[in-house]
Amino acid sequence: MIIDAHAHIFPDKIAERAANGISGFYGMKVRYNGSLGELFSEGGAAGVTKYLVQSVATVPEQVTAINNFISESVKKYPDKLIGFGAMHPDFPDIAGETERIISLGLCGIKLHSDFQRFDIDDPKAFPIYEAASGRLPILFHVGDNRYEYSSPRKLLNVVKKFPRLTVIGAHLAGWSRWDEAAELFAHSGIYADCSSTLYAMSPEHAADLIRNIGTDRVLWGTDYPMWDAKEELERFYKLPLTAEEQEMILYKNALRLLGE
Ligand SMILES: [Zn+2]
Repeated sequence: MIIDAHAHIFPDKIAERAANGISGFYGMKVRYNGSLGELFSEGGAAGVTKYLVQSVATVPEQVTAINNFISESVKKYPDKLIGFGAMHPDFPDIAGETERIISLGLCGIKLHSDFQRFDIDDPKAFPIYEAASGRLPILFHVGDNRYEYSSPRKLLNVVKKFPRLTVIGAHLAGWSRWDEAAELFAHSGIYADCSSTLYAMSPEHAADLIRNIGTDRVLWGTDYPMWDAKEELERFYKLPLTAEEQEMILYKNALRLLGE
């Protein structure tokens, strides 16, 4: 079993445009078009058996439609998909939509504060953290050395203020700011995924950063449509980890966290 714990999906008719938007934002060519069909074909070819799928609401008006789309996708492929809902700090009824996310069968919330343009520790986002505390994990995009919205330090402020909130810091909790994140989150109790990370450093460095978070708390993911699952797995298997640690990161930690 292999779970891709970080995959973005989009409805077919906007997938290409959305994927190009990500390319433009990061100045990196994304590999795929962000459709569910391509996720299954390229992931399946690499041996991925399950996918945690989500999408970011760049404006509050998108929240409801995204949650419906993710939920419908999960209902179509219940054995293959785990869905996270979208939320936005300017959404008018955060508590109500959080209840709806749960009733739709979604298992968490995804936030990307660089796309959504709010500081992770801005009090206007606190209602999201309050509503999710003890109920839904939040997958946070963390880190971008061009912006401060999603800085690791700001996530740490939230971790401290909301001790009952289950936090997953994407990209080892600090994309392009990995060493800074390592200092802040050493054995801090957060979860993290190692998507969009392994390409940027040596296998030894990546393994050190993973151990620093805890091998029982890191999830493997592709950041689909960004990376190819087969290549990401090849990078992952080069890390100096034990077979048991590999299994934990490839699926056991995700199963435990998401209560599957
Ligand atoms: Zn993401």
